Amino acid sequence: MPRLKSPDDLYELREKLKQERDQRHTCVTICSGTGCIACRSQDVVAEFEREMAEKGLEDKVALRRTGCYGLCERGPIVVILPERICYLGTKAEDVSEIVSETLVKGRHVDRLLYEDVETGQRIVRLDDIPFYRKQERLLLEANSLVDPKRIEDYIAIGGYSALAKVLLEMNAEAVIEEIEKAGLRGRGGGGFPVGSKWRTTRDVPSDPKYIIVNADEGDPGAYMDRSILEGNPHSVLEGLIIGAFAIGSQKGYVYVRQEYPLAVENTEIAIKQLEEYGLIGKDILGSGFSFTVDIQRGAGAFVSGESSALMSAIEGKVGEPRLKYVHTAVKGLWDKPTCLNNVETFANVPLIINNGSDWYGRIGSDNSKGTKIFSLVGKVNNTGLVEIPMGMSLREIVYDIGGGIPNGKKFKAVQTGGPSGGVLPEGMLDIPVDFDRLEKVGSMMGSGGMIVMDEDTCMVDTARYYTDFLAHESCGKCVPCREGLRQMLRILDNITSGKGREGDIELLEELSEFLQEAAFCALGSTAPNPVLSTIAHFRDEYDAHIRDKRCPSGVCKDLIAYQIDAEACIGCGTCARNCPVDAISEVEGENTVYEIDQGKCIKCGNCIDVCPPKVEAVVKISSSVLLESA
Ligand code: SF4
Ligand code: SF4
Repeated sequence: MPRLKSPDDLYELREKLKQERDQRHTCVTICSGTGCIACRSQDVVAEFEREMAEKGLEDKVALRRTGCYGLCERGPIVVILPERICYLGTKAEDVSEIVSETLVKGRHVDRLLYEDVETGQRIVRLDDIPFYRKQERLLLEANSLVDPKRIEDYIAIGGYSALAKVLLEMNAEAVIEEIEKAGLRGRGGGGFPVGSKWRTTRDVPSDPKYIIVNADEGDPGAYMDRSILEGNPHSVLEGLIIGAFAIGSQKGYVYVRQEYPLAVENTEIAIKQLEEYGLIGKDILGSGFSFTVDIQRGAGAFVSGESSALMSAIEGKVGEPRLKYVHTAVKGLWDKPTCLNNVETFANVPLIINNGSDWYGRIGSDNSKGTKIFSLVGKVNNTGLVEIPMGMSLREIVYDIGGGIPNGKKFKAVQTGGPSGGVLPEGMLDIPVDFDRLEKVGSMMGSGGMIVMDEDTCMVDTARYYTDFLAHESCGKCVPCREGLRQMLRILDNITSGKGREGDIELLEELSEFLQEAAFCALGSTAPNPVLSTIAHFRDEYDAHIRDKRCPSGVCKDLIAYQIDAEACIGCGTCARNCPVDAISEVEGENTVYEIDQGKCIKCGNCIDVCPPKVEAVVKISSSVLLESA
């Protein structure tokens, strides 16, 4: 690899790489993110390599492994450029047909195209699929254009030109001003203005200073940062080097959780390539600015996402938060000024430098500029990664992009902000999604987890789930969080198991207030949000559990029972064959019917799932009904 000694070297290399790419006009891109790899996308890649060699297409058609395309529900995803023909759920055995029909004859393989559920029409282009139509993929679009393991792909699409501009045409003050003017806010949770954080760190007279990428994404169901690092690590590293130049740091870290092996691997490769090209190290592009970066692997503790805990972990200490009398921007890693931003925040920086703060300021809402990536999961048809301009309504996200609720069920709520956020009921579907509006209604943006719940979700059980998660993840350093969360969990366990008492809701509210005021760090002070928001919007469900010992959604195991309706049962015995504990037996009599031994039943729900669709003889009832009839 040639060492790039000036911006001209970089621009020359880019032109050369662009020409090479243009020679092979058609490119088959195959998602090689974690989700699609789990669906055997590597077999699809291997089969394309074999088929294209056999048909002699290697010189005419390029093949590229890419990062996540977002529609993870329907992977492995194959997109053929430049037409952007999108094939979903592609298997190795489909490849021969794609090659002979699409690559050779220019025809589509209809059965692999997206089918519109309403019209039944097949949709050819990726951008016309409803999931993509309303998105604004400023960050995720590049995932489809680069192989994350090839820095050349990133350079060919203009990568590192923002760095060259910053190093040779701007000074640190101008960079910070541009980020401030753009209104970029941190994407890791709090939404703190990035420019202001950079300025604070810059203004502290100290050498050294540090800059860190927070890739310790820990919210259940969230994988935005993982997908950016896996799919386009150079966008994050370019933002990091620009940030380092702005604050005057020569040493950076990427703190990434060990459970993200592909993100770690691709970031390691990216850093090595940067060193080889001279884009990190001494005297970058002849500017006189020097910077190096190391990867630090996190062990996966949720609390290590908190800035002071993360810095303790990098220092080799236990990842526990400390009181921040002085902010980490002033006194952070090894007591030196340290700037911490998350993956998505850094990925926005090259876009702002390249396109200008005016351009960026036109995207999004008043105080929340740009786009936000959410992992849209739960009870929604199109689960996956979505990138929307801030200010879009929850309804548009859940229905227009997410395709609504599966199986004709009713929407009940959506949880934003992960375990530190709150649930928002149907009446709030029209609120615009941005930092301030979400906070105003008792939730938060968080890092971008968005979990959709349908009518079958128990909101008390949801609060119990998040409290259980946080009680386990509490580092235990402060009493309010360690003991307060345990007590809240004990109360919620009692309520969901039919042992709730009058006054429990008030006790939960009191403990919540105590945690909010006294907990050491944000894990503890925001931990009551799921409990408080479910009480605020679904108090009737708490009342039903406590007063009537009933779970209206039929979720809490201690409050439900399975029963077989003898009149509906056709005696096929499927349920008995699928019961893991032999709790179902034949009842002696004229007609063959089955019944459940309630003493043996472990309430796994297998029997209700396997009873033939038109029979539906197994029913879920409230256990209190069973007791009354006994
Ligand atoms: Fe058996 Fe599970 Fe049905 Fe109970 S719920 S009867 S354990 S299959
Ligand atoms: Fe009866 Fe349904 Fe069980 Fe068949 S599967 S024996 S119909 S309850």
